[in-house]
Amino acid sequence: MFGDMSLRGGIDLGGTKIQTAIVDDGGEVLGQSRRPTPTSGGPAGVAEEMAAALREAADAAGVETDALEGIGVGSPGRVDDGAGTVTGAKNLPDWGGSFDLRAALEESCGASVSLGNDVQVATDGEFALGAGRDYRSILGVFWGTGVGGGIVLDGKPWIGRDAAGEIGHVVVKMDGAQCPCGRKGCMEAYAGRWAMELKARREVDHGDKTHLFKIMEERGRERLTSGVWSRALDRGDEMAIRLIDRAVRALGVGIASSLNLLDVEAVIIGGGLGLRLGEPYVERIREAMMPSLFASENPPDVLLASLGDLGGAIGASLLVKSAAAAR
Ligand SMILES: [Zn+2]
Repeated sequence: MFGDMSLRGGIDLGGTKIQTAIVDDGGEVLGQSRRPTPTSGGPAGVAEEMAAALREAADAAGVETDALEGIGVGSPGRVDDGAGTVTGAKNLPDWGGSFDLRAALEESCGASVSLGNDVQVATDGEFALGAGRDYRSILGVFWGTGVGGGIVLDGKPWIGRDAAGEIGHVVVKMDGAQCPCGRKGCMEAYAGRWAMELKARREVDHGDKTHLFKIMEERGRERLTSGVWSRALDRGDEMAIRLIDRAVRALGVGIASSLNLLDVEAVIIGGGLGLRLGEPYVERIREAMMPSLFASENPPDVLLASLGDLGGAIGASLLVKSAAAAR
């Protein structure tokens, strides 16, 4: 039906959702699907759900998965594309060990599979097709449950020895707040949605008032999602405003410190909370950077990620092209 046009699959594997997309040569999304990430069933169960979500996207695009040129996957945990495995994906059910995700997906989808780190592929997507497309070097900052980062330097992803881009664990305060990673004073300890929720719960235990948890219940949620935070800000909730302000200050300091080292041309802000709060908060983060930015007379551009919720899946689909080029 599409003649010679080659179509690629992209899968963004997240802790709460699996987002899939079928993407053409020009980066256009022809079909997509989203499913909740299973909370039980282990890696094999997650892989099955990933394949099902990809089949739905393929149906919407009018293709079979085995006709795809390839499938790219952005995954949390330690990703080894050489071995085809994902190890220690802590947000996923019973995925502490190593699992051959490539074998499982190739078996069920009938196309070759390439693996990448979730945050790095989202950054690569923004670099190739989104807000970063006019630049050679960018820093992607994904503000969500945690704070993830991705780096592209002079046109190439920079993953270091394997762990580069962990901007959430840039220290913004010596001996500061407890981070979910076990260390202290990390940017994520102030700005990550999970750390912010723990802080809000502690303040409520100490008698402080907030509508955050009432809004959470009204919306049928069990966590303070980005939507809950956004609604509380709209209602002028004092605690929500204070904790988000604190998060913005931490992001400003942490991003500026990273820029003092990397001096990239642009910072792209994405992630659940970043996308939800949008442009006004991108501007606030830019302002919060300025006092700590060494090259303050020539600041880099700070932009909202433009591929939205599909950025991870679109970025993952680009792994297919790079895999083909590498052969
Ligand atoms: Zn940390």
